[in-house]
Amino acid sequence: MHTVYLSLGTNLGDKKHNLVSAIKEIERRIGPVRAQSAFLTTEPWGFESENTFLNAAVRVETELSPNELLRVTQQIEREMGRTQKSSVDPQQSKVIYHDRIIDIDILLYDDLHINTKKLTIPHPHMHERNFVLIPLKEILLTKDTQQ
Ligand code: ADP
Ligand code: MG
Repeated sequence: MHTVYLSLGTNLGDKKHNLVSAIKEIERRIGPVRAQSAFLTTEPWGFESENTFLNAAVRVETELSPNELLRVTQQIEREMGRTQKSSVDPQQSKVIYHDRIIDIDILLYDDLHINTKKLTIPHPHMHERNFVLIPLKEILLTKDTQQ
């Protein structure tokens, strides 16, 4: 079994419902959720939008490999209706972000370091984003919730 930390964010529709649904799907397809942070309202990061975000982090036990985990989190994003991926603006070589129903990012996978084209773990931007760090810190050292 592996211990992974995931970050969740949404800034469209019924945000609370989006987080609850995503966590339910994580539990069903990835593995038991051992800890869950509070939901935190935050300002959009890296782009302009009038829609604030709701963020959370979860700790999950899983038998999936890092690549399988990415495949499943992206599948959940797609099935929940996420359409646009973040992309790189070729002229200014900066990332273009969009409003999203759900974003699930892999923060940590055991103490693994991975750097491939598709997947970087630990997540490369986690240290500069309070909306990731605050929920993560809340659950990092907590005991598993009783099942
Ligand atoms: P962002 O989360 O930065 O807004 P996306 O969710 O659209 O952007 O993801 C863009 C790409 O980031 C994905 O296609 C995925 O291959 C890649 N990626 C690299 N490392 C990770 C990670 N640790 N967790 C999730 N996606 C990652
Ligand atoms: Mg993402």
